[in-house]
Amino acid sequence: MAKLYVVGIGPGGLDQMTVQAQHVLKTCDAIAGYTRYITLIKDFTEGKEIIKNGMRSEVERCKTAVETAHQGKTVAMVSSGDSGVYGMAGLILEIVQQGDYSDVEVEIVPGVTSANACASVLGAPLMHDYVTISLSDWLTERSLIDKRLHAIGQGDFIAAIYNPRSKARPTIIDEARDILLQYKSADTPVGLVKNAYREGQQVVLTTLGEMLDHEIGMLTTIIVGNAQTYIKDGKMITPRGYGL
Ligand code: SAH
Repeated sequence: MAKLYVVGIGPGGLDQMTVQAQHVLKTCDAIAGYTRYITLIKDFTEGKEIIKNGMRSEVERCKTAVETAHQGKTVAMVSSGDSGVYGMAGLILEIVQQGDYSDVEVEIVPGVTSANACASVLGAPLMHDYVTISLSDWLTERSLIDKRLHAIGQGDFIAAIYNPRSKARPTIIDEARDILLQYKSADTPVGLVKNAYREGQQVVLTTLGEMLDHEIGMLTTIIVGNAQTYIKDGKMITPRGYGL
């Protein structure tokens, strides 16, 4: 059976990568992934066949990875964080199911997703019900993103916002913030984490009212608290509700 692993490499540091992910990367024949992630795992790439290309060629890259496994090689397709959270796991399974690839066995190797990595850097903001939402409107209708932002507000969910801003969509985060402000107070704590567990990590504790005064980019994850969330001694905490 040909084997194709879809591996979440975590936020960036080796310490945050699971032992299983490290084992797969060490033992596979070929590694596929977005160029930035291949660079992050350079300790594992020596002597391996590398299948890499830019951001918007996911389908092509995944097809090449499946084809390489079909030819008998053990392939690891990497995503940052968890491969099943805005990563490549679903696309790989769809390609394998739709093509003539019954000989390719797919195994999904979980990883630490940005929501959890960034929460740990901020304190304990995800202690109650939370939602992850991506603001990328490349594959998702803008109206659906807006509808879900309203639902976050209506449900008083904590939100972990992925893909908050890119050059192609510089203002979507401003508009998302304004939707959340219809439901959440301007004092609601917000954590901005850029490059968690990577070189250049930046952490900002702010509020929903003031978050747009700070740098927010492609490598930032934003955590917006619920009505109970507070910041104290540099930690963002959402109480679970235990009595003290
Ligand atoms: N599969 C990834 C998410 C990919 S979407 C995961 O599970 O984490 C890309 C988005 O993830 C970025 O826009 C950013 O919001 C977030 N992200 C990825 N790595 C990050 C890091 N090291 N620090 C902060 N946010 C990160």
